[in-house]
Amino acid sequence: MDEFDIIERYFNVLTSSSPSVLIGIGDDAALVQPSANQSLVIATDSLVENTHFSSFTPADAIAQKLVVSNISDLTACAAIPKWATLSLTLPMMNESWLKAFSQSLHQQLQHYGISLVGGDTTKGKELHVSMTVIGECQRSDFLSRHGAQVGDMICLCGHIGESALGLSIEQHLREDANFIINSSHPQVLERLLHHFYYPQAQVEIGRIMKDYASTMIDISDGLLQDLRHIIRSSQTQDIPLGVNIDFTARFLSDDFKQGVKLLFNHHGLSKDKKIQNSEQIALTSGEEYTLCVTLSPTEWKRLQQDQHKGLISTFQLYTIGEITDSSRWIVNGCPLELDENLGYRHF
Ligand code: ADP
Ligand code: MG
Repeated sequence: MDEFDIIERYFNVLTSSSPSVLIGIGDDAALVQPSANQSLVIATDSLVENTHFSSFTPADAIAQKLVVSNISDLTACAAIPKWATLSLTLPMMNESWLKAFSQSLHQQLQHYGISLVGGDTTKGKELHVSMTVIGECQRSDFLSRHGAQVGDMICLCGHIGESALGLSIEQHLREDANFIINSSHPQVLERLLHHFYYPQAQVEIGRIMKDYASTMIDISDGLLQDLRHIIRSSQTQDIPLGVNIDFTARFLSDDFKQGVKLLFNHHGLSKDKKIQNSEQIALTSGEEYTLCVTLSPTEWKRLQQDQHKGLISTFQLYTIGEITDSSRWIVNGCPLELDENLGYRHF
């Protein structure tokens, strides 16, 4: 089987019959038809073996993570994803891997209504998967990272932290295949691992939030680090910005709280991270894809009212802090040094 057979067998079948795809997989390039009066929104994300996932990570999880990390970037801009290209670098031909990967990819693309329109397939030393997603939104709907103002509330559209525990569980499993089975609460560990392997993008919440939020970002590198992107993009020389976060156990899921107990008591989390408490794990946990928004108190009130009136769907919205007018970061009453390890960084 060569790369043309791979494309034909596993990926050409994924090309959809969407009327917006004029020419899909199989030509030199794809031809797509954007909707009238829409701007194109484009994002790329790559996953590299031994950096973003391990040889232990199932193929279907890699596919889901790839699609969701891409979709989530568009979601955070309030755009609607429509087309995608896939770049695959494979160290060897592994049909069962390709089958599981392409099936999961197909299922995820269908779930989010995206057509695969092209890609590239090569051989290389390490497994490397990369996706570009192209979506649409009205120019005025695009929600960027700049626009946060003093007094804005900082809110999370769901829990965070479970991915860090899922990663820790995977690391334990690599050393001890019975790690979950031998635990006192195997279902909790199963769910945390599942959350880490099979994330979801908050597409609908992102579309709702565009009408209320001043900025929005998806938590891919850890809340503190991603929030720093918002601050850096939003502040000006005249108006430095800071944050005051009050992050309490109320914002943590039951699975997370139980998982921390299980992982801490018996095995301890990764030693290099200087983890002092469970809030810190949650604040630095990446690959969550939970949306974090800033919005003015007036818009926050309007959102609550609209939810109450049934004008928009209800979802969890946790107010964790506010944007302040100093360049200081206060987390649970303590000043935070910004060069501390806030989340994941490659270099
Ligand atoms: P070229 O040599 O012109 O770049 P390729 O042989 O790389 O063409 O690809 C042939 C067709 O298959 C192109 O339409 C390309 O977009 C598509 N393709 C290649 N690899 C993939 C992939 N992994 N997933 C989806 N489409 C792919
Ligand atoms: Mg090519």
